[in-house]
Amino acid sequence: MLQDRQQKIKQIQTETKTLPLQRKQLEAQLATSAAALESLKQNARHVEVDRKKLELDVGTRTTSIARLRTQQYETRKNDEFQALGHEIERYEKEIQQIEDQELELMEQADKLKAQIAAEEKKAGAAKQSIARQLSDLEAKASTLQSRLEQLTKERAEIAEKIDEEVLNRFERLFASKGDAAIVALEHEVCTGCHMKVTTQTAVRVKGGKEIVSCEQCGRILYAAE
Ligand SMILES: [Zn+2]
Repeated sequence: MLQDRQQKIKQIQTETKTLPLQRKQLEAQLATSAAALESLKQNARHVEVDRKKLELDVGTRTTSIARLRTQQYETRKNDEFQALGHEIERYEKEIQQIEDQELELMEQADKLKAQIAAEEKKAGAAKQSIARQLSDLEAKASTLQSRLEQLTKERAEIAEKIDEEVLNRFERLFASKGDAAIVALEHEVCTGCHMKVTTQTAVRVKGGKEIVSCEQCGRILYAAE
């Protein structure tokens, strides 16, 4: 039946239209997952840079302390010896503080490392799942396409045998109603618009000798079994 093919063609066209959006959503998921991983890796790089800077800070202070110690051994003045000693203490305190900060950063780095490993695992799984879904979408698109070609061919074969005027009427009705151009008449009620038709119309439909339209919606009626 022509209408059956027409409805199926329309369904397939509607379904086909949703495919690019589904593809885009999957690609967006993939990008989100990659961005989350990249952001963690960037954090880890920042922590590493900060830690290296602290290491350098310790290095310069260690050098300063060594220089002060040499000066201390060379001096014979007691007050100068003590002043150098205070400066050494100050640097040693600073080194301690810096090393505490370094420890904190190392803890952060460890945490980030664990997070990155977990995120990498997650991203890998997501990538696999999304790749699978994308290839399913491809398969679906090609199935829908071949089904559409088959239906279009069948529809053309059926249309060939139908009177042109009737075919045009059907096309116009189908396009304007969007769902069905030919509907059943059940207990004198049009199943397209659910309105009761006149008894005269119902009799003509039951007669089955001509094309009868619903007075309300214009759809072509056929008698329900
Ligand atoms: Zn109707």
